[in-house]
Amino acid sequence: MFKKSFTQQMPIPEGAIASAVEVMRTGRLHRYNTLDGELSETDLLEKQFADYLGVKYCLSCASGGYAIYIALLCVGVKAGEKVLCNAFTLAPVPGAITNAGGEPVLVETTADLTIDLNDLARKASQPDVRYLLLSHMRGHVADMNAIVDICDSYGVTLIEDCAHTMGAKWRGKASGTFGKVACFSAQTYKHINAGEGGFLVTNDDGVMAKAIIYSGSYMLFDQHPTLPPKEWFDEVACSTPNYSGRMDNLRAAILRPQLARLDRQCKRWNSLYAAMEDALSWLPGVVLTKRSDDEVFVGSSIQFSFPDLPAEHFPAFVRGCQRRGVALKWVGAPEPSGYSSKFNHWQYLAPSAPLPQTEKVLSTLIDMRIPLTFEESDAEVIAQIISDVLKQTQ
Ligand SMILES: *Cc1c(COP(=O)(O)O)cnc(C)c1O
Repeated sequence: MFKKSFTQQMPIPEGAIASAVEVMRTGRLHRYNTLDGELSETDLLEKQFADYLGVKYCLSCASGGYAIYIALLCVGVKAGEKVLCNAFTLAPVPGAITNAGGEPVLVETTADLTIDLNDLARKASQPDVRYLLLSHMRGHVADMNAIVDICDSYGVTLIEDCAHTMGAKWRGKASGTFGKVACFSAQTYKHINAGEGGFLVTNDDGVMAKAIIYSGSYMLFDQHPTLPPKEWFDEVACSTPNYSGRMDNLRAAILRPQLARLDRQCKRWNSLYAAMEDALSWLPGVVLTKRSDDEVFVGSSIQFSFPDLPAEHFPAFVRGCQRRGVALKWVGAPEPSGYSSKFNHWQYLAPSAPLPQTEKVLSTLIDMRIPLTFEESDAEVIAQIISDVLKQTQ
């Protein structure tokens, strides 16, 4: 029996707690509620994250999904317009596209769990396609040079969903710096934890000006620490609706010390990931997801498949592991449960062209969280339980 919880986070660092308490003592929790010349925790967080990524602008938001939603509006998605996205992603991604009035068009997934470049090029070449919302699902980074080339050659605007790639890189360049805009999440199960929260980052003046207004700045936009030249607001300040979705100073206070430790945390995740990968690699019939040498990833979860295990064996296998304390997610499950990420569960989508490759990849795929509350030595125990249960189910 494995006793640790797969959903147990690390405690919030004491420094972050102290800083949150300090904010509460002031009573000034709203981001624009500042004394003369004071920078709020939210302001400081935005500067810190923009510096971390090496981008001009950062806007903190109420959630990652909200950041994606306004990012799509800011780049110009109009009602009924097609937006390409990975068929393997999480529900808030097609949800944000739908919220922005767009029509998600799903792109096939490779065995490495990245977007299929051939299917992408084919779909991006359609004359009515102008946007790609690229989701680095479960932290798997596709060949970003190839993606940027495809987008450039077909005039497609790239928006990155970096919910699982905060701290990741492609050929030394930070994930979230390849497209026109990128979005991150600070929700509990991502790489920094405020319960809820998100970021929109960009180097584009026009996008940032609009994003600030959409997020609910009223006419206080010039309080933002990462601010485009004022002329940009002449155009957008009164013509852009307020879709209220700000972050508050309490969350920002909790996040700032976590962001300062992010790279250390990512190292720790990767050492747990390496231990898990090694232990799982001994399982009979297992295929671990391949990672590119060009990718610096953050191993906050691990994916593996059993291509030869018949679909009817998966429910008993997952239940057997659960009974012994190992929480696995069968991505290919026909019925949605928990954090489902199977595209055919999103019944509000327009009927999509068949996605046989994604179907096949997901049908035998297992997803496992790696919380930082685990130790390297847990990997052996987990793999042993999986191995025992596999034997019993076959
Ligand atoms: C969590 C997640 C989001 C959205 O983040 P929230 O902050 O929960 O809205 C977007 N994309 C992916 C792939 C995610 O896992």
